Amino acid sequence: MNIALWLLRMAQVQTNRAAVFHGHCPVADYGGFHTRAAQIAAGLKARGTKPGDRVALFMDNNPDYLMALFGCWYAGAVAVPINARLHAKEAAWILEDAGARICLTSAAQMAALEGGGMTCRMLAPSDVSSTPVHDAPTRRAPDDLAWLFYTSGTTGRPKGVQITHRMLAAMTLSYLSDVDEVTAGDATIYAAPMSHGAGLYSLVHVLRGARHVVPVSGRFDPGEILDLAAHFGRGHLFAAPTMVKRLTAHARAQGLPGTGLRSVIYGGGPMYLADITEAVEQFGPVLIQIYGQGEAPMAITALSRADVADRAHPRWRDRLGSVGRAQSMVELRIGDGLPPGEMGEIMVRGDLVMPGYWQNAAATSQTLRDGWLRTGDIGRLDADGYLTLMDRSKDMIVSGGQNIYPREVEDVLLRHPGVAQASVVGRASDAWGEEVVAFVVATGDPPDPADLDVHCLSQMARFKRPKAYILVGDLPRNAYGKVLKSELRARLPQTGPG
Ligand code: AMP
Repeated sequence: MNIALWLLRMAQVQTNRAAVFHGHCPVADYGGFHTRAAQIAAGLKARGTKPGDRVALFMDNNPDYLMALFGCWYAGAVAVPINARLHAKEAAWILEDAGARICLTSAAQMAALEGGGMTCRMLAPSDVSSTPVHDAPTRRAPDDLAWLFYTSGTTGRPKGVQITHRMLAAMTLSYLSDVDEVTAGDATIYAAPMSHGAGLYSLVHVLRGARHVVPVSGRFDPGEILDLAAHFGRGHLFAAPTMVKRLTAHARAQGLPGTGLRSVIYGGGPMYLADITEAVEQFGPVLIQIYGQGEAPMAITALSRADVADRAHPRWRDRLGSVGRAQSMVELRIGDGLPPGEMGEIMVRGDLVMPGYWQNAAATSQTLRDGWLRTGDIGRLDADGYLTLMDRSKDMIVSGGQNIYPREVEDVLLRHPGVAQASVVGRASDAWGEEVVAFVVATGDPPDPADLDVHCLSQMARFKRPKAYILVGDLPRNAYGKVLKSELRARLPQTGPG
């Protein structure tokens, strides 16, 4: 089944229901949204696009994005969304790797890409329009590709995760069953890049005939998001942890309770306890956590709004520090099936899991074993099935034979009032193999390292505490806001004092 069928069906029964907004401004009802997607599909076909061909989207968030995404699927093409914040050279690499025939892009990005000697044709979505011959999406089988999702590449070259129509259907249905309900009255606000996690939420909101709101700024502006939530009511957004933190800080400073915010889905990176507690205090029971990755999109596990907000629960703190329980569509185990409490690599199997990386058999065989996806994340399950994530396996520090999970140390550092951001990495040490080094961004005046040391020693085992604190103005992040630990490691001298 072609996932775009959901748009056609909604347009048939709710033609005049408001669908897409640019800020407060209505852009299209479901009839118009569908017509535009079908016209783009016809335009792509008129330019030779065949089912299975890759069509890239290299655009900032805007209403055209939705039309173009569904237009690609309508044509039976494989959408290749590329983060608009990537450098033209990085985007060009993805276009080549994907073998994209057409790239739908804005004038500014077109100019940056031109001259790169690429075979791919650059077009503005508004220029791609023909009269549709058939009023139905091109037939696709469940295992046909719908999306090539280039991993954020915190290390090395990005890889193209193959996402099928089946995976998108499984993802959407399990969202409704395990993460959150969605009704026609909801308004999803695209606060994060639609080329990544946020774009995936378009499907569940089309399926339920809800409203799609694209902020006019095209980026994450806390004031704008809170205004849109108050304006539309029943606001939904997917936000990275750093965005939730900024949203909370803004709302606090302005004395705004977050009127109209119904669901804030956070994930994609660690959310520190101090930050999530503040967010719940500010907004109430609207926060829901998901843990997923491109290879098993949107949510492998979810932590419900009740779990996040129920302070009276005796295990509230533990659960808040977890990423919740496995979703209906996946099997989840630790390592080869370790018992509760034991730490190991998180493995996932089921309809949500990718069939492999695009034209990369070596990476596929390292990542998929007997149908199990090796997530590269380390975690443990508790007796009730709650999963606690420790770190990416490659980020774990082994010091004097002991495993140290940077996230635990970062969590403690962030509880110090002088610390705004913290990232912990391992540095080679003659004495210990590796030792802990903390990069710290101060909230104001630089904190005294001796004071940080006392703080750490009061809350963690001695062997885990950082041996050095490096004060920095900011942490290096990739285009999706994830801290680039590889870059931090590269800044360290090879061997510490031992
Ligand atoms: P990506 O494929 O770019 O979405 O990155 C996925 C990775 O982000 C996962 O493998 C985890 O390491 C991390 N991640 C995703 N969700 C969470 C979460 N809720 N808490 C901590 N880390 C997360």
